[in-house]
Amino acid sequence: MTTALTGIGVTRGLVIGRAHIFHSIQPEVVEYAIPQQYIEDEVARYELALSKAKTQLDTVKDHIPVSAPSEISAFIDTHLLMLEDSALSRVPIDYIREHQCNAEWALKYQRDALVTVFEEMDDSYLRTRRDDVDHVVNRVQRLLSDPEAQGLSNSEISLAGRVVIAEDVTPADTILFKSQGVAGFVSEHGGVNSHTAILARSLGIPAVVGVHRLRRYIYHNETVALDSEHGMVLADCDEALLRHIESRQQIALRQQARLNALKDYSAVTLDGVNIELLANVETEEDIDLMHAVGSDGIGLYRTEMVFMLGNGVPTEETQYQAYRRIVERANGKPVTIRTLDLGADKQVDGVGRGGAIATNPALGLRAIRLCLQDPSLFYPQLRAIFRASVYGKLRIMLPMLTNVEELHQAVQIIGDVKRDLRQANVPFDDDIPIGGMIEVPAAALNADAFAHHLDFLSIGTNDLIQYTLAADRLDEDVNHLYKPAHPAVLKLIDMTIRAGLKAKVPVAMCGEMAGDARYVRLLLGMGLREFSMNPRACLDVRRIVVNSSVSELSALMHSVHRAGTSNEIEELLDRINHDI
Ligand code: PEP
Ligand code: MG
Repeated sequence: MTTALTGIGVTRGLVIGRAHIFHSIQPEVVEYAIPQQYIEDEVARYELALSKAKTQLDTVKDHIPVSAPSEISAFIDTHLLMLEDSALSRVPIDYIREHQCNAEWALKYQRDALVTVFEEMDDSYLRTRRDDVDHVVNRVQRLLSDPEAQGLSNSEISLAGRVVIAEDVTPADTILFKSQGVAGFVSEHGGVNSHTAILARSLGIPAVVGVHRLRRYIYHNETVALDSEHGMVLADCDEALLRHIESRQQIALRQQARLNALKDYSAVTLDGVNIELLANVETEEDIDLMHAVGSDGIGLYRTEMVFMLGNGVPTEETQYQAYRRIVERANGKPVTIRTLDLGADKQVDGVGRGGAIATNPALGLRAIRLCLQDPSLFYPQLRAIFRASVYGKLRIMLPMLTNVEELHQAVQIIGDVKRDLRQANVPFDDDIPIGGMIEVPAAALNADAFAHHLDFLSIGTNDLIQYTLAADRLDEDVNHLYKPAHPAVLKLIDMTIRAGLKAKVPVAMCGEMAGDARYVRLLLGMGLREFSMNPRACLDVRRIVVNSSVSELSALMHSVHRAGTSNEIEELLDRINHDI
């Protein structure tokens, strides 16, 4: 009998593939005593695990695709060297002999000692080595706990064509899945606007998150169907159901072909209002897509990807090369580069972990807060952006502004960067517009003040919704509270649009709401004229724009403003959207 599980669909897509259970949890290590006569056997067991770990890494190295970033090979070399270092090849063995304990415990002891040393280092790059220690130690621990298993980490198993089943998926895992050609993924945790979900949409990977007890019902290697539009995972499908799914796949392909025909249309409403459709870009590949769907430029380039794809914090030069490539590939279209928004669910080895573990990371040292606190992150990034500015039309956007003082501080650092570049005769564009994201309720409430100091505003609804409604965007348990059409959210959006109009400062929206077909007409009616979205959503949004009349929609907005509940607004949306 078919098993149907439901969760939160984060992308559109219908795929069939064999399940691959993705393990990200490490075995728990306990200490036990080894009788004297077996100590050398225990040492041999440890040495065998080490040598298997080396063999695995050599195999992985031989199979790195040519298209993979060069850092991956360097990363594996580092791990190989660590396995050979006496810190791992000799010290745990001494510990086993001295304390007559199991190899896992000796390795854990040594790992803790190494990590303490790395954590005490001031240099953020050296601090990243702590995570390398963990990766290598975890590999050996896996082999010790299960010597028969391949012991391969997730990055080394071919996932091509597979539907990955996981407890949780990080943004970095999502990138790995793309490079491995997965058919889709399903996870027990996660929210619709987590960065993992956003990345999955941007990379076009069908995904369903928040499926409770998923791993109880799906078995490794069984055939599953994933309907990410409806948030469904089906296992044990009979032939008739599989054929039905295949026919729906064909229909979806035909619909996409019809949408493709809209690529060269201008996004002008029925009553002649020009709407700018921009792209949110995560990777360089997104730029090809942006050109393919005829976007007007890049409304949000998330620079975190440059940090997350590499091994720790990239140098100014690496960043410069990355930003320059983006700007050049945009072919003269405007590129809005958002400064670093690390923190919360976007972590990079060695960044921001100096203090106590945050209880509420989304409310913690994130985005502009982190950059202002750690100029060693912000300054080189700004230099890299300014250096890249001579290759096209660049704009800088600051994330998570809450207080106008933060903006002043950032502007001062930008001034320092420009001064230093000028003194060093490094060419840059002196007139780069500086904009800010409105994604914290305080910023929306104070949008007038921000509009006064900025060249443009961009509403980040992904965060604005979570902060306004106190509903963590990552937490599937409060996903039902995460509502773009909540009257409080709409009031803040409205205030921001009005503030922009008053100050004659353009206002865009770059949160996922801007690319959600359901809200396009509502936002047009509210006065939004710049929509930035995952380029995969662009054609559908254009279809709605060219079939809408702004004057008719504006006339309906008094009902939106009067609504006291999300349900009332949703009903109104059903009516507004009846023909799309
Ligand atoms: C947002 O918060 O809406 C946004 C675009 O930023 P991010 O999703 O990267 O937090
Ligand atoms: Mg945000």
